[in-house]
Amino acid sequence: MVSKLKIIPLGGLGEIGKNMTAFEYGSDIIVVDCGMGFPDEDMYGVDIVLPDFSYLKRNADRLRGIILTHGHEDHIGAVPYVLKELDVPLYTTPLTAALIELKLEEHDLLYNTQIFTKKAGSTFRLGSFVIEFIHVNHSIPDSVALAITTPIGTIIHTGDFKIDVTPISGGMIDLVRLGQLGNEGVLALLSDSTNVERAGHSESESRVGEGFDKLFKGCDKRIIITTFASNVHRLQQIINVAAKYKRKVGITGRSMENVLRVASVLGYMDIPENVMVDIDRINSLPREQVVIISTGSQGEAMSALYRMAFSEHKQIRVDAGDRVIISASAIPGNETTISRVIDELFHKGAEVIYDRNTDLHVSGHACQEEQKMMLALVKPKFFMPVHGEYRMLVKHAQLAREMGVQPRNIVIAENGQVIELSKKSMKLEDSVTAGAVLVDSGMGKVGSVVLRDRHRLAEDGMIVVVLPYSSEDHTLLTEPEIITRGFIYVKEAEGQIEELKRVVMETVVACDAQMITDWSTIKSRVKSSLSGYLFKTTRRNPMILPVISEI
Ligand SMILES: [Zn+2]
Ligand SMILES: [Zn+2]
Repeated sequence: MVSKLKIIPLGGLGEIGKNMTAFEYGSDIIVVDCGMGFPDEDMYGVDIVLPDFSYLKRNADRLRGIILTHGHEDHIGAVPYVLKELDVPLYTTPLTAALIELKLEEHDLLYNTQIFTKKAGSTFRLGSFVIEFIHVNHSIPDSVALAITTPIGTIIHTGDFKIDVTPISGGMIDLVRLGQLGNEGVLALLSDSTNVERAGHSESESRVGEGFDKLFKGCDKRIIITTFASNVHRLQQIINVAAKYKRKVGITGRSMENVLRVASVLGYMDIPENVMVDIDRINSLPREQVVIISTGSQGEAMSALYRMAFSEHKQIRVDAGDRVIISASAIPGNETTISRVIDELFHKGAEVIYDRNTDLHVSGHACQEEQKMMLALVKPKFFMPVHGEYRMLVKHAQLAREMGVQPRNIVIAENGQVIELSKKSMKLEDSVTAGAVLVDSGMGKVGSVVLRDRHRLAEDGMIVVVLPYSSEDHTLLTEPEIITRGFIYVKEAEGQIEELKRVVMETVVACDAQMITDWSTIKSRVKSSLSGYLFKTTRRNPMILPVISEI
């Protein structure tokens, strides 16, 4: 029997975040990426969103390895959570491995995990799959695309990529190798859709260095710059400009310190001597000779920049002698928190430069012309857009059609759908469990019932009805007590509370007349009559908790 190849996206489709895709052939499964997502604003108390990987748990005996394309959270963030439940080796590039190790250490998983590091250009076998790492440009070094060769053909998964012909280090994306594979014949391409809404070509990372230079030149203020901690090339550029203008660099924020340390140990950064200075010593230097690199580019609560803005930072007081540069764009959903931090910095009198049009940030993802270039070089028979919200996947599919991929050979899939691939066809088959697992870092997993409750409490509040019943003959002793939280302010709504009591009393009397004496029936009757009444009169749906107090 000829086996078919199955591609099963478990996350990353219809969303930006929690990327995870399984490839299955015969008795082997490999997984590409293992990322986390960020909670929506209405996921109260949820800190982390993980892909639902129950499919992998059910097939653990066939799992040969997890391959990580690069070290961003939406690709590696779920690794510790997956490793707590699955014993599986990891395969990735050296910098990505080092960033994963930092996570595993925090979760106390480091010494039980096998991590195999491979450089771009390496090839290795996992069961029926042969995997090749291909160097790509992105906003973190050591990012790779994958050529996955199976008995029915080669699949290319781009990972996150852009084409940068003047990168800071590591060289340009290996277009030559991608073209060679294209000439040899590629069965399917899975490609990054993030920037499909942007025409043209993404700007080179080196552009940002020029932007920094303009802001450093002749500046007599202390300079504070925030960016994504993982953007090693950006950090390198800040340090280079600082050295050029004879400034010392201090680092604040744990993730920034960690990344800088591992990236320089592994040789991904080249730090000139005598430039770095301990943050504790920063105040002993003249302001115009200082640069501080800080975490908090997304306005994250308790990040270093946040603490500076709200005067909670141990070493740094921000004032009119500071120029604060925000070298990042807001990840959708973070705009409000960033604005708050920026406002607070303005309050302190600081000059804040955050306009994204001033060469302070470039995207790490391919725009349309680069996506077309990828399609042109790889010349895939089948195409599947990945890494994007639904509209982006649709647009990327259109782009592929314009580039000559047959419409019937393009699949726009959703998380959990099984895509079955033969040499001749690609089609959507049945689906497997997929979705989101919500994690509250204090409480662990948050189920949908808990989230629904938190929703209701936040939107409509809560009403507790205390029913004082006699424990001897199950009769109501006095009138019920009504306590509300987040619903109405009782002192100003006495009349309304009296109405609620009346509804409760009517229900209790009706139960009595029907000889209903068991507590659970009485409670559920009270609950339903009260919620019916409230919905009719207020269009609200608060959580109602009847409590029987036996006296
Ligand atoms: Zn990325
Ligand atoms: Zn990504």
